[in-house]
Amino acid sequence: MLQKGEQLYEGKAKKVYATDDANLVIVDYKDDATAFNGEKKGTIVGKGVVNNRMSNLFFELIEQNGIPTHYVKTLSDRETLVKKVTIIPLEVVVRNLAAGSMAKRLGLTEGMDLPRPLVEFYYKDDALGDPLVTDDHVDVLGIADAPTRETLRRMALGVNDVVKRFLITRNVILVDFKLEFGRTADGQIVLADEISPDTCRFWDATTKEKLDKDRFRRDLGNVEEAYAEMMKRVTGGTLQ
Ligand code: ADP
Ligand code: UDP
Repeated sequence: MLQKGEQLYEGKAKKVYATDDANLVIVDYKDDATAFNGEKKGTIVGKGVVNNRMSNLFFELIEQNGIPTHYVKTLSDRETLVKKVTIIPLEVVVRNLAAGSMAKRLGLTEGMDLPRPLVEFYYKDDALGDPLVTDDHVDVLGIADAPTRETLRRMALGVNDVVKRFLITRNVILVDFKLEFGRTADGQIVLADEISPDTCRFWDATTKEKLDKDRFRRDLGNVEEAYAEMMKRVTGGTLQ
């Protein structure tokens, strides 16, 4: 029986615990919600349960499609066993439609279709507010070399393809999302962290209603209801 060990880290949305296996950790999903780099704080009741379950379903689907992830197994409503990785300090964002910071920065209408999926790198540093970085920044600062950047791009676009195709069968548009990658003890790059309404923009394909954390960020109301609705859509029927 695997033993849950000491808490290694407490983040904004999850806690990470050691186990008696040095290569495995347990992530524990909280209901705490933050936005604007921690400036706005709140609670989304039941969020941890939704994000844990939804993220694990997506990770299983992604694995089935040949993209390696940190996922090992679901332990409880809020806890999952994952491979311990050294996180590459980049937030890899994929966008299918213009929204959020991209729409604001470039003066685009939210919801504008992009001719192809766009990949962006943000330097993962809370103190700096996760700044957008160019390929050259990532290179010159030694954050990730060219082959690693290519792997991240290819894996991120692969995840986009798999999740987008699945969600449209549930009448949901995958607008954009953020991924994190890490290296396992044997050096393999795998998808880590989570894929959930906290880290994605999900829009109802018919009404364009927001079914994600933007309801919290923008005080749109019915936050818990949106998370529950996404859970219903993702679990309703068979995966794939
Ligand atoms: P934040 O650190 O941004 O507040 P969370 O509250 O989600 O984020 O904390 C989870 C932390 O665990 C993040 O820093 C994330 O990079 C890290 N993490 C995710 N998956 C793994 C993994 N498989 N191994 C080690 N660390 C991980
Ligand atoms: N995102 C995230 N964590 C972050 C920043 C962004 O999960 O720290 C996700 C966000 O939910 C959205 C996508 O990445 O799905 C693109 O976010 P954007 O750059 O538009 O920033 P935001 O508008 O969220 O500040």
